[in-house]
Amino acid sequence: MSQADGLDPATGGGTTNSSQAVVIGGGFGGIAAALRLRARGLEVTLVERLDRLGGRAQVYERDGLRFDAGPTVITAPWLFDELFALFGRSRAERVSFLPVSPWYRIRFDDGSHLDYGPDREATEAAIAQLAPDDLAGYRRFAAHARRFYDTAFQRLGAQPFHRLTTLLRYGPRLLWLQAFRSVYGLAARYMADERLRQAFSLQPLLIGGNPRSTTAIYSLIHELENQAGVCFAKGGTGALVDALDELLREVGVTVRTGQTVARIEASDGSTTGVTLANGEHLPASVVVGDADPAHVHKYMLATTRRRRWSDRRLDRLHYAIGLYVLYFATDCRYPDVAHHTIQMGPDYHDELDGIFKRGERADVPSLYLHRPTATDPTAAPEGRDGFYVLAAVPNLTADIDWATEAPRLKEAVINRLAATLLPDLREHLITAFHVTPEDFGRDYLAVHGSAFSIQPLFRQSAWFRFHNRSEELNGLYFVGAGTHPGAGVPGVVTSAKVVESLLVAEGVVP
Ligand SMILES: Cc1cc2nc3c(=O)[nH]c(=O)nc-3n(C[C@H](O)[C@H](O)[C@H](O)COP(=O)(O)OP(=O)(O)OC[C@H]3O[C@@H](n4cnc5c(N)ncnc54)[C@H](O)[C@@H]3O)c2cc1C
Repeated sequence: MSQADGLDPATGGGTTNSSQAVVIGGGFGGIAAALRLRARGLEVTLVERLDRLGGRAQVYERDGLRFDAGPTVITAPWLFDELFALFGRSRAERVSFLPVSPWYRIRFDDGSHLDYGPDREATEAAIAQLAPDDLAGYRRFAAHARRFYDTAFQRLGAQPFHRLTTLLRYGPRLLWLQAFRSVYGLAARYMADERLRQAFSLQPLLIGGNPRSTTAIYSLIHELENQAGVCFAKGGTGALVDALDELLREVGVTVRTGQTVARIEASDGSTTGVTLANGEHLPASVVVGDADPAHVHKYMLATTRRRRWSDRRLDRLHYAIGLYVLYFATDCRYPDVAHHTIQMGPDYHDELDGIFKRGERADVPSLYLHRPTATDPTAAPEGRDGFYVLAAVPNLTADIDWATEAPRLKEAVINRLAATLLPDLREHLITAFHVTPEDFGRDYLAVHGSAFSIQPLFRQSAWFRFHNRSEELNGLYFVGAGTHPGAGVPGVVTSAKVVESLLVAEGVVP
């Protein structure tokens, strides 16, 4: 259904509310926001600087293979079902979510490994085999993670956090749950075996934080995985983005790719629209930023006097890690390699200190390897495998010259993979290319090339994070990794729900 027929796609009839909204950025947060505002009757334009929607979920096509650039672990699939259901459509009819098994294989430097999920009994048996005395502790850890999930994801995830009173109301519960501990600290409280402590505390790295300083609230990821498992979109995450792109256009959202928003315009403290880099003005009474909020504040509100987010304050934030990602293919398949394998480095604690404190990358880094054909055999041409492998590295605040370091890291990563997970890799390698934090800075305008905006520290979470409603301008809202509830696909899709509820509460939309 198009705008031209004058019908409201949300209701299937009636008049479309003529209020205009512009969403800046087509990551999952921006896409979800555009759909939610459209379903509420607004005329929505989504502006994305890259040629393709998806944000960090880009797709690279090389040598006959499609490589998902970013997220591949889909937890909380119902959040996508909801977006299609807003318009009476079915997600499952357009893109399938395949169950991944095991969810993760974690390989330790001593040669042992742990297969985790989806079968709880099998996971517990594997834990008992590694460290029999820790099984009871693991169960208590899982129960604790469940309590964080119930409070922080179920109750607070979609709850606006722009009022200090909300923090004060829920603060005691979070303190009682020991949110002041780190995820590693929580795992260490319950388990003595260092390998298990690492296996059940590394999740913050997947959203850019240090397991030893990220608030234990993020142990909720453990329960999030348990709720609906770990899925993979058939055809890759790019297929999910394509299905959402199609939905946006079907329901009348104007999608403008290849256009960068240069400035958010304001008059008397309220947004009046945006100006694109080509000088074009798009009027809007509602502007939703899915772009990095630190970038938006520093460069896109240039004419607005900022009350809370001064440059000094933005500079003092703790930005999330950078990523080095190597995409590659082989002329054979490695059928014994799981879909998601984490190969731990030889010294986890020193590696974390290097990345987060000393600004150094590890010589032999821990690696996360993605092999989609393990779940979806059609993900690569027959007889070939397509992979990506990523290593956590310091963001651009560290003094690293990526022009010289990237090729060195590439060699170190290939050597490590050949020695551990992918024997004879060098002989089978048919294509390889990489991205570094510099690419994140240039492509997505991510401040300091951070892969996940700001770190998920307690003092940068909930009320302390960039609010979903701007503290500088009326009519400006934020979704995406830098705002509440935080990075990761479930977080950014949920942030659009928060913005929708704010607009309803403020009477902007019915
Ligand atoms: C390699 C990698 C792997 C990951 N794996 C997982 C995973 O398996 N599971 C998971 O849940 N999460 C994962 N994540 C995290 C997750 O991908 C992100 O947190 C999430 O996708 C970010 O979504 P977002 O809405 O914040 O937008 P982004 O994806 O950051 O997109 C923002 C968009 O805004 C655009 N933009 C910026 N400025 C402007 C401007 N001025 N004008 C127009 N457009 C602009 C950018 O080009 C970009 O496309 C991964 C991240 C990376 C990098």
